Amino acid sequence: MTAAAIWWAEPMGDRQRVLILGGTAEAVDLANRAAEQSDVSYSLAGRTRDPALPRNVSIRKGGFGGADAMADWMRENGTDAVIDATHPFAAQIARNALTACTTAGVPRLKLRRVAWQTQPDDTWLSAADVTEAASLLSSTGRRAFLSVGRQEISAFAPVENTALVARSIDPPDDTNTLPAATFITGRGPFSVSDEIALLRHHDIDVLVSKNAGGDATYAKIAAARELGITVIMIERPPVPPGEITESVETALAWLNALSA
Ligand code: NAP
Repeated sequence: MTAAAIWWAEPMGDRQRVLILGGTAEAVDLANRAAEQSDVSYSLAGRTRDPALPRNVSIRKGGFGGADAMADWMRENGTDAVIDATHPFAAQIARNALTACTTAGVPRLKLRRVAWQTQPDDTWLSAADVTEAASLLSSTGRRAFLSVGRQEISAFAPVENTALVARSIDPPDDTNTLPAATFITGRGPFSVSDEIALLRHHDIDVLVSKNAGGDATYAKIAAARELGITVIMIERPPVPPGEITESVETALAWLNALSA
């Protein structure tokens, strides 16, 4: 996809120029707050049709074209600092950010929200990735609710004997890979009561989720606990080395310290 700025704020004087790699609620919050003191460029992969956007920032959409091209973009735009606030499962862009910042000599911070932890009465089975989650399904339940996004949904094509209900923000580009599945769309935050009603409505007995962390999509996990439904929890990919924080507050403090 070609990168295209859809809105561009003129840099103001010698303010710090920050690139925020976004696509999460925390990234939007961070960008809104960082824009009070810095010139912020907010970058999205461009996959979601109607993404949440921060205010008073420059928006760019689409891949950079790899780590070297991201480093070039930083040099051309005089980037002083990068905060990688992408989703915990967006492993490629996180690796690219590390490489690009090392190449361009730009400080980088990873903002990654805290992972969900099991609570009393939870029944979780751990899966390393969507492929393993799919392989666990038929021995775990007969009607599964998939909450794994739409990009990797085809990993569930080999599943037999378990009916699939898949929810994503936008519908999958190709639903033919799962011809028997039911597809629904929805964007968090969701309430626990609505999630309980949805799981009951579809007669779900197993939930598949990424361990995304954060509040916006946690209600399904609480709903599964309430209903005694097993969760196949897909574990996070490893995070690249370097500075990391779990809070927007600390990320803002990191920016402040750089500009002091
Ligand atoms: P990914 O596999 O880590 O990245 C694939 C490629 O997409 C990257 O190499 C880069 O292209 C481009 N890209 C990704 N994020 C970008 C960003 N913020 N700005 C510019 N280019 C970006 O990413 P993904 O898992 O497909 O996720 C894509 C986006 O959706 C991320 O920004 C993430 O925050 C958000 N998201 C992901 C998930 C998830 O479960 N993976 C869930 C919710 C939101 P180039 O190599 O061409 O630069």
